[in-house]
Amino acid sequence: MKGATLLSGAPSSIPAAYWSAERQALRDATREFAMKEVLPLANRLDPVQGEIPMSLRDQLAKMGYFGILIPEQYGGLGLGIVEYVLITEELARAWMSVASIIARGNGLGAGFTSEMRERLLPRMARGECLGAFALSEPDAGSDVASIRCRAERDGDHWVINGQKMWCTFADGADFLLLVARATPYDPANRHAGIAQFFVEKPRGSFPEGISGTPMRKVGYHGWKTWELSFDNFRIPLGNILLPRRDDEDAAEAADKGGFKRAMKALSSARVHTAARSIGLARGALEDSIAYMQQRIQFGRPIGDFQYLRFKVADMATQIEAARRLMYSVADDLDHDRSCDVEASMVKLFASEMSERVTSDGIQIHGGAGYTSDYPVERYWRDARLTKIFEGTSEIQMRIISDAHLPRPKS
Ligand SMILES: Cc1cc2nc3c(=O)[nH]c(=O)nc-3n(C[C@H](O)[C@H](O)[C@H](O)COP(=O)(O)OP(=O)(O)OC[C@H]3O[C@@H](n4cnc5c(N)ncnc54)[C@H](O)[C@@H]3O)c2cc1C
Repeated sequence: MKGATLLSGAPSSIPAAYWSAERQALRDATREFAMKEVLPLANRLDPVQGEIPMSLRDQLAKMGYFGILIPEQYGGLGLGIVEYVLITEELARAWMSVASIIARGNGLGAGFTSEMRERLLPRMARGECLGAFALSEPDAGSDVASIRCRAERDGDHWVINGQKMWCTFADGADFLLLVARATPYDPANRHAGIAQFFVEKPRGSFPEGISGTPMRKVGYHGWKTWELSFDNFRIPLGNILLPRRDDEDAAEAADKGGFKRAMKALSSARVHTAARSIGLARGALEDSIAYMQQRIQFGRPIGDFQYLRFKVADMATQIEAARRLMYSVADDLDHDRSCDVEASMVKLFASEMSERVTSDGIQIHGGAGYTSDYPVERYWRDARLTKIFEGTSEIQMRIISDAHLPRPKS
């Protein structure tokens, strides 16, 4: 596997407004780790669809990456979204799946009860307890409000029945964050009764009542993505994750807050996806710059040809624009400033940019870019996904346009 091994890379700044010596040091340490430990593994394992090794997961845990957002009192780093995206960009530059797996500690504890926070957050920060998110269904992707997976109350338990699609890491996770209906589907009030449930499971397998089939995907290798069936699977009544009083009926609480909670989790994940997109695009840029200086055509390095030089200028400009928007939205999130629409904007802009820039990277590599001898094709395959998951580009456009125009009549 060929490709860039540079540690400093092309210019990629922390914008001055968000710069500090601590953030610079964090970025440098993560960059070194990503380029030395993650990139060689990605280059070796992605072409054979190998899984992220446990030894790398242990290293990620040691670096504290599963607990960036987890408060220090629970053993996390207690940092903010700015640091989270900074680290994510560096890891994604090496392997997007690794930049994604850190979210399985950082991103899934928001709805925990205080008892679960005490019990689980320290283990999540250490990478010992990681989750998978089971929201999408065969007939419910963008249209989340049409989910049909059902949680029915039976004494002290919820009984889960239904199908889930696209559940990445369902096998390797220690728990599933399952979105299901606590009340029957009501076409007149489709959001009612949608709730999140905490499903504890053994790492590496599925318990009785859950079965899974891995999906065949184009990229995002390093872990599997599953279609899941729940067949009379039982979980304790208290495993519904909502801000509710102890004496409040769980199904009633689901009516009040479940849908909003699921949507909020998706919204903050969008900035993380922007960081993943930017990391991939940067990989394409850095590798292209290296290749342009080595590859000779017409008796000179192809980096002398102005058209390709201008392509590099365009790639670098697009990346920097996305990065600055990303830091601005991350900072808004850290300061509790409302930025849902801006989170959609940065997800849309960064993922569309990433597919264009990684495709340009392939073009700069010529035929070599269309082989798995160079990682640039992997960056493109993974960048392609960033336009689809965490809300497709069209759904982001819908959110953004709805904020600017009256909604069309249904
Ligand atoms: C590799 C991979 C990993 C994933 N991991 C997970 C995971 O871990 N957990 C999980 O829950 N999900 C996961 N997903 C699912 C992902 O979030 C969905 O694929 C995504 O939300 C889109 O849903 P869909 O595939 O059903 O497409 P659909 O919703 O069927 O969309 C099809 C097309 O219609 C467009 N469209 C739909 N509605 C509108 C509209 N109102 N206006 C305009 N256009 C519209 C879409 O933009 C798209 O172009 C993953 C998906 C993939 C591919």
